[in-house]
Amino acid sequence: MVLSHTRLMKPPILIIALMLVLGACGPGEESASHRASKGVLDLSDWDLATQDPIALAGEWEFYWSQLLSPGDIATTDEQPQLRQVPAIWTEYGDSFPVTGYATYRLEVQVVNLPGDGTVYGLLLDGQGSSFRLWVNGELVATDGDVATELAKNVRGGQPQIAFFESRDSILEFVMQISNFSHRNAGFRNPLLLGNPGAINELERGPTIFQWTYLGILLVIALYHYYLFSQRREEGFLLHFANLCLLTAIRMGFTGNNVLVSVFPFLDWEMAVRIEYLTFFLVTPVFAAFMRSLYPEDVHLWFLRASQAIAGVYSIYIILVSTLAATYVVPSYQIVLILESLYFLYFLLRLFRLGRDGRFFIGAATLAGLVGLLSEILFFWGIVPFGEVAPFGMVGFVLVQAVYLTARYAASLRRVEELSVLLERKIHDLKESESKYRTIFEDSKDMIFIADLGGRIEEISPACIELFGYTPEEIKANGIRLNAIGSKEDRSRFARLMSESDSIQDFEFELQHRDGRQIRALMNASTRVDNKGNIIGIQGTVRDISDRVLAQEQRRRADKLELIAATDALTQACTRRYFEDVAEREMARSLRNSSPLSLVMLDIDFFKKVNDTHGHLAGDKVLVALANLCRENIRSTDVFCRFGGEEFIILMPETDLDSAFQKIEELRTRVAARPLVVFNGQDIAITFSAGLASWHSDETLEDLIGRADKSLYQAKQQGRNRSIRSLV
Ligand code: GH3
Ligand code: MG
Ligand code: MG
Repeated sequence: MVLSHTRLMKPPILIIALMLVLGACGPGEESASHRASKGVLDLSDWDLATQDPIALAGEWEFYWSQLLSPGDIATTDEQPQLRQVPAIWTEYGDSFPVTGYATYRLEVQVVNLPGDGTVYGLLLDGQGSSFRLWVNGELVATDGDVATELAKNVRGGQPQIAFFESRDSILEFVMQISNFSHRNAGFRNPLLLGNPGAINELERGPTIFQWTYLGILLVIALYHYYLFSQRREEGFLLHFANLCLLTAIRMGFTGNNVLVSVFPFLDWEMAVRIEYLTFFLVTPVFAAFMRSLYPEDVHLWFLRASQAIAGVYSIYIILVSTLAATYVVPSYQIVLILESLYFLYFLLRLFRLGRDGRFFIGAATLAGLVGLLSEILFFWGIVPFGEVAPFGMVGFVLVQAVYLTARYAASLRRVEELSVLLERKIHDLKESESKYRTIFEDSKDMIFIADLGGRIEEISPACIELFGYTPEEIKANGIRLNAIGSKEDRSRFARLMSESDSIQDFEFELQHRDGRQIRALMNASTRVDNKGNIIGIQGTVRDISDRVLAQEQRRRADKLELIAATDALTQACTRRYFEDVAEREMARSLRNSSPLSLVMLDIDFFKKVNDTHGHLAGDKVLVALANLCRENIRSTDVFCRFGGEEFIILMPETDLDSAFQKIEELRTRVAARPLVVFNGQDIAITFSAGLASWHSDETLEDLIGRADKSLYQAKQQGRNRSIRSLV
């Protein structure tokens, strides 16, 4: 930075180690005991051959607003003024203007071996905006073009070394300086005198140092640009590369301005602007980098503000003259101090919140801040060393590079762990997938998954049985779920689905590929994604044709059985049914030791009813008698048409006397009045009955036989009566 050029670099502790490693040189010295006085510097006790180069500092003769050559000075009568060097002439207290020109002169007394010529070396930094230097009347160094007006003044500024030979014990230095383009005007950087080797060393040391850092920074920048090109989502790689590049450029335009010596087209005007630009841009680029690492900890307003301020400053220094540009630096330092405070706050926040990498970032940022702040403090004369900002930045960049690499290594490790985990998960998943796949493949029910539009996404092979299509055909033909079934089935399905998110035992007709109608049963539920949106339905479809068929057959069989069990005319049970029931009742009676009685009754002279009134009348009589019997027996009694006009009543839990009583009641009721009216004619009948109670050792046939025998007796004894079998 051209805040002030000095070779007196005392780097902060943080980067001393770096400097040692990279072989930084020792600086020349401004000696307190060897200072010029009244235009004369006595170095007769300073052995330049063995001792360090020494700064030609102290009181120089000073001719304001004159450009005098050594010859001019020798002949002038004018008494020179005396002024301190190095210093800025605006600070002399004589209110010299910034722009102007002057000549300085100094005599140096040196030790000289008689007769021998000594070669001396000089290390010169830029002065004012340009200078010309004579030693013992010989022009040894020029920087830019010294002139008396801006138009002719050409600015230099590149540090340089010069060598000259002298046999004299007195060296006369005459320095012409003009300034039209820098805020700091005058003989402001020390002139170092020493032996050629030491001077060379002083020149080369920092240059090598700067080139080394520049190279490292460029490589790191390119490396991270490359990484970023491979991983665009990692914005911090780009910001870090930007920061490295910026620091590299800055490194090339400060100190020995090594980049200026490489690119001759870069004149001082451009070089100083580039240097200032890098100075302004450091904080926004740094802020962008930090924000990319810690998006929650660097405020956007801060980033935008630092960008805006840097932008305004940058545009300003590009547009105005270099002289004006040099004046804005101090105000930007205030901005920098404020921004540094923000970064300190940011660091505290990192530590308070225990953010990852806080130690690295903390160390690196502190290195950068210390460098920057010490330079500012140097500029204001508060600390005695300066130009450490680039080294602070280098410290920052190196620590940061290490951190990013560590971070990368950690994320690589994490990736490795994750891939192992992933492999295991995939293995588990495959296993469970194959398990479910088997269920899916082997299921007799068809399992399906469909999207919202009913398009079938997945369907199990059971569809071949059900539809006659393979899953591939269904998927390829885009067969939709809503193409299945009749129109009514579909609308019923849609209605049910709209009412609930699942549907159970939905029966519908399905058309098989071969034209068959298949009765099917569907169970389905809606599918939702992880946000809860309905994305389709899934479920199973079962072919229930067989079941429906079986049900129908059973119904038919039941009906047939009923038909077989019931007498069509009288609705009494048939003889075959009666035999089944009677066997069951006998078993029960045995189990419960309860009585079981049987009545056999036969209409008297029924033939005559048929003969007199016709067969239809006979039927009507049969129906009427049957109804009457049913009305008068218990629900547990079994009423059976045994054949023709013969009926049996089986009475569980009834003994012979009770049965007798019951049948006598019925008989007298029947006999009491006409049973039916047919064609306006009353038809009255009577019946005879034979009763028997079951003995547990006899068969149904025996029981019926005994009742029949009693019936026969009743007929024999004149009919219209009941006879008990008392055997
Ligand atoms: P008895 O008093 O000796 O029993 O005289 P009966 O005439 O009742 O006896 P028989 O066995 O000689 O006659 C039974 C008659 O019942 C003969 C038959 O035509 C008539 N019959 C049997 N089944 C039916 C039927 O379902 N409808 C009608 N109308 N008559 C029937
Ligand atoms: Mg009969
Ligand atoms: Mg009869």
